[in-house]
Formats: sequence, C-alpha cells, structure tokens
Amino acid sequence: MKSFFKQVSLISFFFSQVLLSADKRPNILFVFTDDHAPHAIGAYNGWLKKVNPTPVIDKLADEGMLFVNSFCTNSICGPSRAVIQTGKHSHKNGFMNNGNSFDWNQQTFPKLLQKNGYQTAIYGKSHLKGKPLGYDDWAVLPGQGLYYNPDMIFPDGKRRVDGYCTDVVTDLALEWLNKKRSEEKPFMLMVQHKAPHRNWMPALRHLSLYDDIEIPEPTTLFDDWKDNAPAARFQELEIDRHMDLNYDLFVDLTPEFDQPPSQQRQDRSAWHNMKRMTPEQLKAWRSHYAPRDAALHKANLSGKDLVRWKFQRYAKNYLRCVKGVDESVDRLQQELAKLGLDKNTIIIYSSDQGFYIGDHGWYDKRWMYEESLKMPLIVKWPGVIKPGSRQTELVQNLDYAQTFLDIAGAQQPNDMQGMSLLPLMKGQKPENWREEIYYHYYEYPSVHMIPRHCGIRTKRYKLLHFYQFGDVWEMYDLDKDPDEISNIYGNKETLKLQKQLKVRLKKLQKSYEDDSDMSVREDYVEKFWKKS
Ligand code: CA
Repeated sequence: MKSFFKQVSLISFFFSQVLLSADKRPNILFVFTDDHAPHAIGAYNGWLKKVNPTPVIDKLADEGMLFVNSFCTNSICGPSRAVIQTGKHSHKNGFMNNGNSFDWNQQTFPKLLQKNGYQTAIYGKSHLKGKPLGYDDWAVLPGQGLYYNPDMIFPDGKRRVDGYCTDVVTDLALEWLNKKRSEEKPFMLMVQHKAPHRNWMPALRHLSLYDDIEIPEPTTLFDDWKDNAPAARFQELEIDRHMDLNYDLFVDLTPEFDQPPSQQRQDRSAWHNMKRMTPEQLKAWRSHYAPRDAALHKANLSGKDLVRWKFQRYAKNYLRCVKGVDESVDRLQQELAKLGLDKNTIIIYSSDQGFYIGDHGWYDKRWMYEESLKMPLIVKWPGVIKPGSRQTELVQNLDYAQTFLDIAGAQQPNDMQGMSLLPLMKGQKPENWREEIYYHYYEYPSVHMIPRHCGIRTKRYKLLHFYQFGDVWEMYDLDKDPDEISNIYGNKETLKLQKQLKVRLKKLQKSYEDDSDMSVREDYVEKFWKKS
C-alpha cells in the first residue's frame, strides 16, 4: 500500500513538473509584406481609407496597438529586412543596398530566439540572398519572386509551387502550424509576402475589385517639386515619364505581347511576369484586361489625362494585391483560433517600407519623405495590449529584433542599436525614449536614380542631406506641411532650429557609428547631375 502511494505521488510529481516546465512564453506570428504603405491601410486613416482595402488588418488595429510614428532606417526591400534580422543600421549589418549580399554568419534575432528555446520558421520573401540561417523550417522566393506559380527554395532544393504567391505563402505557413510545429516550444513564424511589390499582379479573384469606383487621387499627384532639392527633378520614378504601360500596367501595346522577346538580357515587357501563368490563368487575365485596354487605345489620352488613367490602373492593381494580403491575415488568424493558439500568440503586421501611390507623382520608395519613410506597424497581443491603442512614440524597424528577444525573455545583445518596444506595447511611457530617428539611403546610381541621402526626423521636423552633389539640404515642418511641399531650409525664422537639427544629426551619426563616405562625388556631378 505504501509503495502504491509512493508510486502515485511520483506520477503526480512527474506530471506537475511537465506542467510547470511547459513553455508558456507567447508565440509570435510576424506577417511582413513588401511595399505596403501605411496610407493603404484603412486604420492609418490616409487618403485611401475611402477605398477600404484592409478590413481584416483594420480589425487587428482595433484589437491591438497601431504605431502611428513607425519608420524604416533605409527605405528599400533587402536593407530593411537586414536591419530587422540584426537590430543594426545598414552600415553596421553590411547590407546597404539591394546589390549587396547578406552575411548570414552574423548575429541575427532568429538565431538568438532558437538558442532561447523558440522554434522559428520563415515562408515567402527573404530578399537577403543565400540560404536563411536561424530557422527550423523555411521556404523562400528566389530574389523578388513571381506572383503566379512561383519557384520557391526549400531546404532540399528549388521547385515550382502552383498558385497565387500570397496564397502559396499562406498555405505553407498553415501547413507548418498544423504539421511541423512542435507543441513543446513557443514559436516565431514569419510570413513574408511578395505583395504588394511591383509588378502589381492581383489574384484572378480580385481582378474586378474596385472596377466600379474611381480611386481618389493624392493631392500631390501633379507635384512640380519646385521647393525640393534638384534630386527630385532627375529621379526616375514618375507615373508620367517612367511608369511603363506594358511592363508596369500590363496594357497590351504590341502584337508581340504574348511572345517572349528574343535575346534580351532582361525582359522589360509584361510578358516577363505573365509567362508563368497557366493557359487558363492567362485566358482569365486577358479576358479581364482586353476590353479595358481597347477602351484606352480608343480614348487616345495624353498629358494629365493619361497620368490619371495610369494612376487608376496602378492604384487599383496595387490595392487588389493588398486585398490578397488582407485575406491572408484572416486565414492565419482563423487557423490560430482553430488550433487554440489565438490567446497566446502575438500577431504583428508590418511592411518593409512605405510607398508612393501617386503621391508627388511617383511610385516606388527610397526617399526619406513621409510616404516611403513610414512603415505600418500593428500589434495584437491578447491580454497584454489594450485594444484600440494608438502609440505615438517614434519607433523603427531597428527595434524589432530587440522587441522579439524581449518578448521571449532573452537577453538583448549590447551591439544591437534599437530599443525594445515591449514597454510601449504594455502602455508604459519609458523615460529616455528617443526623440528623433536616423535615416540613411545608399543605393545610387541605380534603378530610379534616387541619390544617397541621410537625415533626422523628430515628431515635428525633418532635415534631409543630399551630399553627393554638393551640400544640399531640405527641411520640413510636418505639423504645418505634412505633404512636404515647402522646404524651409535656409529660412530666417527657422535658422536656429536648423542649426540644432544639424547638431542632432551629427550626434546620431556618431552614436550609431555611421562613418559611411559622405563626400561630394565630382564624377557623379559630371555624369548624372549636369545632364539632368
Ligand atoms: Ca520593399
């Protein structure tokens, strides 16, 4: 009898230990898209709110926290991701522009999470080249990836996966949650969509979405950049002069539309992205666009009318791609609930930078102006984050790595350069939170021709420095001038502030140890500036 009780107590001791040791740390579902500007999210209340492209993401904001002042450090795909991996600015992690390769041997947050008992997985766009390290399972798109029937690189090799990219990536994440996830450990699951990156190809089921509405135009669609540094006039990302009717907007312009061009190093036709479609997909795509293209040819538009037409097709296709992402967030949330994981999973929605959706007459990103400097950041954490909260402190993608580590209760390495957002999520107001952010863009000369520039942004002011062509500056009062139309650099009334901001910019560069070459390039002046 005595030994029976001993056995029972041993068994119950064993189970109590199992329960005690069960890891209750929260799971993290990090949904990260490409080029999704905050003003194309209803919850951010931008001019596109009327179109309501994101009901699911808006609900996430209602149930969680929306970071109003969320910014990137370097507004371009690969570098933004490298900053997130490392918690370090581009000049420290070595991935300064898309031409670089990421050194996967360096310290990254997924590796540290693994060491601290998390299981990690990534599906979708990595854009860092090379096999991702620090993940228990992964499947990534090669380079930019394709919208239809994309190739994906798995640990055991590359293969084509049939379907629409946003759905394919979501399916892989759902499969991992159901079949590959260990119940013993908390997880960090990264779902990284290609959408809504150029060239904007919606899912077939979304082709007619927004067909019956006019997308409202941004107030700056016909900006003449009269106050900007000369760089704004020799860029190559205008809807008017640079957005291609065929390559970008899939307008059927030539009899060779469905033929691959011969011997070209890079196919700059719409076919480049359409050739992956199955005959059925291609037929559905064509039957949607053919009558609309015919109407365009008949209308024979030019000047502002053509810009307006291009804006409509561009904005609609962009928002249709966003719709696919919104549905993905819905499917992921439903699966978490089905698996009973919704209560203990933090859901984070973000994108690598903002984007111009006709703002200032542009598409693409790169500039330190608001539309591309801003990143969406929405976090839902049941029981911890107060539903419907709005956070106005200045935060950056630089902070994500330390935030993830802090959530996991892991140590934050001293050489990371951000700040954990955990106190902000908990509604605390930490002392000594940053009063300015630092920005530095490097990719020049390159596609779209945006020169290198760096700058500082406070809650109210912004100072930008274009240094390769001389000592060129811009300054904006964002309270009075949110669209950054009036450059106040050199104005008498703000000279004192201008000096202070310059000192603060220098101080930031020193504290982040940015000793990048910021000298004037006479050869560039000769080659690019004078001809513009
Ligand atoms: Ca991007």
